[in-house]
Amino acid sequence: MKEECAVFGIFGSKEAAQMTYLGLYSLQHRGQESSGIISYDGKKMYEHKAMGLVSKVYSDDILKELEGHVAIGHNRYSTTGISHVVNTQPFLVDCRFGKIAVAHNGNLVNAVELRTRMEDDGSIFRSTMDSEVLLHLIARSREDSIEKMVIDALGQVKGAYSLLFLTQGKIIAARDPNGFRPLCLGKLGNTHIIASESCAFDIIGAAYLREVEPGEMIVLSEDGIKSIKFAASAERLSKCIFEFIYFSRPDSKVFGENVDKVRRKLGRKLAEEHPADADIVISVPDSSNTIALGFAEASGLPFELGLIRNHYVGRTFIQPKQRERDWDVRIKFNPVKGVLRGKRIVVIDDSIVRGSTMRKLVTLIREAGAAEVHLRIGSPPITHSCYYGIDTPTRSELIASKKSVREIEKYLGVESLHYLSVKGLLECVDDPDNYCITCFNGVYPIQRDGDYSKDVFDQDIKDKSGRRAERNSA
Ligand code: AMP
Repeated sequence: MKEECAVFGIFGSKEAAQMTYLGLYSLQHRGQESSGIISYDGKKMYEHKAMGLVSKVYSDDILKELEGHVAIGHNRYSTTGISHVVNTQPFLVDCRFGKIAVAHNGNLVNAVELRTRMEDDGSIFRSTMDSEVLLHLIARSREDSIEKMVIDALGQVKGAYSLLFLTQGKIIAARDPNGFRPLCLGKLGNTHIIASESCAFDIIGAAYLREVEPGEMIVLSEDGIKSIKFAASAERLSKCIFEFIYFSRPDSKVFGENVDKVRRKLGRKLAEEHPADADIVISVPDSSNTIALGFAEASGLPFELGLIRNHYVGRTFIQPKQRERDWDVRIKFNPVKGVLRGKRIVVIDDSIVRGSTMRKLVTLIREAGAAEVHLRIGSPPITHSCYYGIDTPTRSELIASKKSVREIEKYLGVESLHYLSVKGLLECVDDPDNYCITCFNGVYPIQRDGDYSKDVFDQDIKDKSGRRAERNSA
């Protein structure tokens, strides 16, 4: 599974682009395919976007050219739209009221339908991203202020969005009424910052203030900060539980809770539900470290560093091309033989998606001399694809949608395999009724239009142009 995007925005800093760059650095885990910053100096917008990691995309000179006291930035992994530079964000356009840029985390589930309608009306699209649809809706709005135009556009889209818009003079942040993806507000002196996770505040020495509420819009401008409730928040929110399991950094606060705290609880709960007769606990670094600490603490087993991760490769899962995954596990992890040899080992991972990583890892751990491998997973079996911003493969590729836990245990070649229960998972968060757990139970809080796959947009566009060509030649 992959999502995955990060947004960052800052209004009123002499070093807006540099701050945004640092914020994006700390949010690198949310998207590693491309990065972009757009800044504004009161007159002009400046833009830099490229494919690759934050460290590669920017240089001193580039950052100096991004002038101004306002900036928004984005890291992207494609959940809709092919991996290509035209699909990098923030996405900047000119429209009748000037320039506007958008940075989006999430997925709009009715974007194909909206886009088709607009194309049939003569609109021209430059990318295959669902976010571009939003800019079209804003540009078409007949409302008389930018805030109202954005609200008008948001009223027409369905799905998951944590958004930042940059206009000539304002940053407008908005979070969907279901609150799928995180978005939080911070402050540094008199400067306000909005970011996907609070770790982006820490890196620039800013303080976390609060979450942007579901259905809330925050406007940052020379007049200060303004909050507008643009839609009632959903009766039951759909905050993504996967942010706690895997996606967010443990040093962040998301949805008002410390990720580290929730993740430790996952580990403790897992140990309560499924103890193991073993000698040591190891994690699959880094995403499972905190869960493994919780498990070790509750089970009384020593936590050991049994797998060493090479930090100079990206999260391989996050790289789009499937073939690259064949050799990723050995590049990424190496077992510490002295730690593993002759031991009965509890291996903690946060999730199993396709099962391919774990299968290879178990082989490595056995080759290193482990006597027994007991696998414990800090989330329930993933049986359904997400289309709210976490990039899950199609359902048929999810191992738990086809195999029972015992079959997976056999496939992975482990002595025992146990997952955290849905009930146990929900006991680890403060407001369990307000989470989306679709990937574990298949209940979709917002229905999508049509069939979904990562490149449904590209596919749909291809199909549509095919159909059009036929229509035209008929
Ligand atoms: P798989 O080989 O498909 O079972 O991969 C499972 C591994 O992918 C787990 O170790 C997770 O840490 C990791 N993972 C889970 N969800 C995601 C995601 N959304 N993006 C990237 N990696 C993920």
